[in-house]
Amino acid sequence: MKPPTFEYFAPKDLHEAVAMRHAQGEDARYIAGGQSLVPMLNLRVAAPSALIDLNGVPQLSEMGRLTDGRFAVGAMVRTRRLETDPAVAAANPLLARAAAHVAHVQIRNRGTIGGSVAHADPAAELPGIVLACDAGIEACGPDGARTVPATEFFEAVFTTSLRDGELISRIVFPEWPATRRWGFREVSRREGDFAMVGIAAWYDTDEAGRIADARIVGIGAGDTPLRLASGEAALVGEKPSPDLFEIAALEAQRDLRPNTDIHATAEYRREVGGVLVFRCLVDAMERTA
Ligand code: FAD
Repeated sequence: MKPPTFEYFAPKDLHEAVAMRHAQGEDARYIAGGQSLVPMLNLRVAAPSALIDLNGVPQLSEMGRLTDGRFAVGAMVRTRRLETDPAVAAANPLLARAAAHVAHVQIRNRGTIGGSVAHADPAAELPGIVLACDAGIEACGPDGARTVPATEFFEAVFTTSLRDGELISRIVFPEWPATRRWGFREVSRREGDFAMVGIAAWYDTDEAGRIADARIVGIGAGDTPLRLASGEAALVGEKPSPDLFEIAALEAQRDLRPNTDIHATAEYRREVGGVLVFRCLVDAMERTA
């Protein structure tokens, strides 16, 4: 199918993009990689009056480590770059690993981190990683710039706390300690499909070898990417071991809020989610060796 008609604008910088979107009103949309929005146009799920194309804004494709050690990723950085650029693997290996699980390579070549996070599909990998890493989402709109913590960004299925006219300019990840242990796993019907359920997990240990901090996040596990706080709490203060991970997986499983859809039942997602928590934590521990 062909998309409905729309006006097209190609800003050259961030402020022009925001101004164009503001001038066009609430029926206008930003377009990034187009890998979610174009299918929505073609299926007539969306019919914006105007598209503001972010592809001509070079600033949005910048990526690099900040002086304080944090890692900033421009909204227009493509998923494929997250997967393949050694700088990403060095700065945040969990982000690089999860990016490789997004869709097929053709989609990763075009799709962007900003588009994925703004789209807020609960089964998408990158929003889950943004949450698992306590990243800050920098937004720029007609009223200025602000940073939204990932914990306050994802509100419901396909719904975020972005205000009308705001765009994501970049996503800033806290420094990733070299000693951090992590795991990422997901289950999908075929390679490249959206995950039926996925888990991202990491933990840091103190000098005594006890877990000092941990994150366990589920994707496809609820209406938004979801912190599995009971599982995290079961880990903290303990020494990593398969026995501990079994307990943490059972606790984490209780925090899953999966839905039933055409791809899987909620019961299946809950069962598999618990298994993935255990396996991610074992992966994390084995990375120590
Ligand atoms: P677009 O499609 O351009 O935009 C998506 C939405 O975000 C639009 O509403 C747009 O207005 C808004 N937007 C875009 N950029 C910004 C910005 N900077 N600020 C504010 N709003 C913005 N994704 C996965 O995570 N995992 C998968 O397994 C997966 N499988 C897929 C399989 C297929 C067949 C297809 C077509 C897509 C799949 N996707 C998957 C989605 C893909 O990763 C998309 O690229 C991504 O979700 C959206 O990124 P985009 O840059 O293409 O955004």
